[in-house]
Amino acid sequence: MKLNKIERLKLVQSPWEYYKKLETLQKIGEIDRFYLKNFGIYNMKLRADKFMLRLRFPAGRVTSHQLEAIWQEIVQKEVELLITSRAQIEIHNLTLYEAITMHKNLEQHGVTSFQTLTDNIRNIVTDPLDGKGKGSILEVYNIIQDMQKIFLYKKEFLGMLPRKCNVAISGMQYNIVSFFGNDIFFGLAKRGGEFGFRLYLGGRHSDLARDTGIFIPPKDTVRMFYAIILAYKKYGLRSSRTKARLYHLIEAIGLEGFKERIKEFYPKNFIYGGELLISKREIDDCIELNDGSFATRYRTNFGRLSKDIFYKIVQLSKQYEIRFGADQNLYIFGAKNINLPQPIEYKNVIVCAGEHYCAYSLLNTKEQVKDLPLLLLKQNNIRLHYSGCLKGCARHILADIGLVGIRTNLFGQVERGVRVYVGGEYTYGKAPARLIFWAVPLRKISFLLEVIVRDFIKSGFNDFEEYAKKLREYSSEQVAFYYLQLMEKAKGDITILPTAQQLKKKEQDLFR
Ligand code: SF4
Repeated sequence: MKLNKIERLKLVQSPWEYYKKLETLQKIGEIDRFYLKNFGIYNMKLRADKFMLRLRFPAGRVTSHQLEAIWQEIVQKEVELLITSRAQIEIHNLTLYEAITMHKNLEQHGVTSFQTLTDNIRNIVTDPLDGKGKGSILEVYNIIQDMQKIFLYKKEFLGMLPRKCNVAISGMQYNIVSFFGNDIFFGLAKRGGEFGFRLYLGGRHSDLARDTGIFIPPKDTVRMFYAIILAYKKYGLRSSRTKARLYHLIEAIGLEGFKERIKEFYPKNFIYGGELLISKREIDDCIELNDGSFATRYRTNFGRLSKDIFYKIVQLSKQYEIRFGADQNLYIFGAKNINLPQPIEYKNVIVCAGEHYCAYSLLNTKEQVKDLPLLLLKQNNIRLHYSGCLKGCARHILADIGLVGIRTNLFGQVERGVRVYVGGEYTYGKAPARLIFWAVPLRKISFLLEVIVRDFIKSGFNDFEEYAKKLREYSSEQVAFYYLQLMEKAKGDITILPTAQQLKKKEQDLFR
């Protein structure tokens, strides 16, 4: 097989061998950029002076001691903090020296940035209410830790997969986000009287993971995970970087073909069947738990955490258990109310890093999102995922409405706009949101969203996923034409809710 450039690099020097170079590294080139990613240090040629460190928190769990250690590292620095949609923390605005030093210092406190970027198994995610929330059947934290032991700090896995591999497992009936966009997803299932997991494979930002039909008892889950990653490592495609995800291998050899490869590493016979137990349920910011106690969801500023807020979280962690959610929010266990400013009213919104943090982005998504009718979306439990470019880190297909940043000259001058995806059936992993509009200028997007939401309200469906099923009886073009007609009819009739400016001002007042 002809190997791509990165694979050829790995043959000359593995990331494991490169690690010792960190001791003396002062200036970096393109090759270093690849190797540094294996230790969670990210830099782009376009922003050569800025480095980011990404920290791994399996299942989103973090201790007070770890939060305190992070605080000590950042307290004197002009950094910016993001919670990602894999429940990790990113520390932005570092120099190379600061990133390497911080990486090493935090390792002493059990906070690692190892294997959080490039060709690695990324932070393993689950629901933040794992083991505690209503509908929690199997607590999976220990399983996640055992999975992580297989590959973390291991020479044979450090940067040695063909491409990144996202993994999720959930023992919950209700999940805050859909996990069907992961390469490997173990979803809560029941077979006969036994609880376990149904296995889904080959998801990515633009495709849902496929149902293998395999049921895995909890005691065999880690072994199955190990077999899958060994099969992917051995048979994954390595000639093109853009065609190396597990998805592509499954496309090439078929799902049955890949299952045969897994058998090579899995000592037992596959068990088939089992019913997926995932259901839909909306939660509010004050969440009643299984034992009658409460947790509070602290909605971040679309993933952004100011240093002031982070400090307050560190203080809270001395009294309450804190977890990071894959919805970019914080969960504080044992607290019914917390005294932290929540400047923006929104729910079920995931926003990628955007142009302030990511050079690929065509939009400042974290600011632009505030101009959308967020209250209307919230009132109707509509899930919105917003990405700054086609890489789709915010997983636009796993939402009721997905937006992806573009530039367009379709309407005259070049301007910023979005692609609009509508109607993902994400709860059960049945269908991705469909591309309805190729290019909507930003100046029209709030109006369009308001038209869509109002049509949903008028439809009488209680749940947007049900409404989406109805829409699926029509082609994407028909749906697009339908919405355009509604927009034409609504001209002058719909007032955009005054959320954007008012919320911005409120936020400024609160954070001042
Ligand atoms: S979706 Fe694009 S712009 Fe957003 S974080 Fe990912 S790569 Fe960057």
